Amino acid sequence: MTSRSSRRATGTWLCLVVALMTLSAPVSSQNENQWDEEDGHPSLCDISEDLVFNGENANTSVGWQVSLGARIPGSEPSAQFRAVVEEDVRAWGWEVHTQQHVSHGMNLTNLFATLNGTGDEERGRIVISAHYDSRNIADKDLNVSNQSLPVPGANDAASGAAILIELARIIPAMNLTQDITLFWNDAEDQNDNYTLGAEAWADNLSQYEIDTMESFVLLDMVGDRDLQLQNIYIGNSTLKTRAQTLGGALGMVNGTTSCTGEDGDGTMQYNITAYVGDDHQHPDELGIPTLSFMDPEYGEKVPGTFGEYWHTMEDTPDKVSEESLGAVGRLVELGLRSGAFVIVEEEQNQLSEENSTTDESGESNDPSKPESRALTGLVILAGLSLFAIVGLIVFAEWKLKH
Ligand SMILES: [Zn+2]
Repeated sequence: MTSRSSRRATGTWLCLVVALMTLSAPVSSQNENQWDEEDGHPSLCDISEDLVFNGENANTSVGWQVSLGARIPGSEPSAQFRAVVEEDVRAWGWEVHTQQHVSHGMNLTNLFATLNGTGDEERGRIVISAHYDSRNIADKDLNVSNQSLPVPGANDAASGAAILIELARIIPAMNLTQDITLFWNDAEDQNDNYTLGAEAWADNLSQYEIDTMESFVLLDMVGDRDLQLQNIYIGNSTLKTRAQTLGGALGMVNGTTSCTGEDGDGTMQYNITAYVGDDHQHPDELGIPTLSFMDPEYGEKVPGTFGEYWHTMEDTPDKVSEESLGAVGRLVELGLRSGAFVIVEEEQNQLSEENSTTDESGESNDPSKPESRALTGLVILAGLSLFAIVGLIVFAEWKLKH
């Protein structure tokens, strides 16, 4: 027996080992590309290089929405908004449907665009929402004669509705694993009645829809040219932590260096907590992980309000900027592309239990990922065992031949 044939045999075994390790690679690389609550996300900066969200498109949409007139539930401008959005998003590949409700004497229409993910049959759903109605009264306007007029609603909340429209344009090409629903909710902001559309939607969810919802992400007042996204009270703490990581990568967090090496600009200020009752409280009550992006200081700070332009006739498109809309849009896009809005099912169930039993605050603790860690451990163990067995065989073969 020549050493050459022995080397060939060893080479064959090595090829087998490499092939088997390659076969097991998709499992481990998938885990590497997911969020780890301790180490964050290893590929976030790579993903952030390829974002395509266009702030100019969103800004144009804000101007268009305001030009329609007051988007009050049941009004003609409200119907025009839905008709145009419906036509656009259908053309981009989405399924569209509406839900009608009567609440507090108002006819509300929630508008939904849905897109199937590329994952397996068990895939979950991410819901991203903004209210598209504008407030019927400018009751915070300092000019008393303005207080009975409907607000222009550029930031509150044409900004969020516009970001959803631009997301509808870019999401189909992302090939996301999860199902996505874009939800333009109605009647968030009428008289003393708030979040009626989101409430009616949440009330009509089936248990299956609740159980398979990965997260609910809300955008409200996100276009202020002086953007200050704050930590909105009520919401899933894991999602909030991830949101800050996303913002840090994009250069939005003070004291955090971005992926491009720049200092954060402070447009994300999660060290400040704002207590806001908003649409996300309804899915939150159902145990669905929620995250709200909102700037609660619109214009100069005014105690007891969300800023000087809030619920006034000053809520006009010039107070909103393409840059702010683009920054928030890219934040959500990065979250979608990186899997930030997906918490593995084991965690979600755990959160639901915590929310329904012990946790009165609505804040949830960061759970660990026991199942996913166990799986990674098993893969490593299997790989090592395989390596040891093959090594023994190669050694035995070599020993027999010498
Ligand atoms: Zn409002």
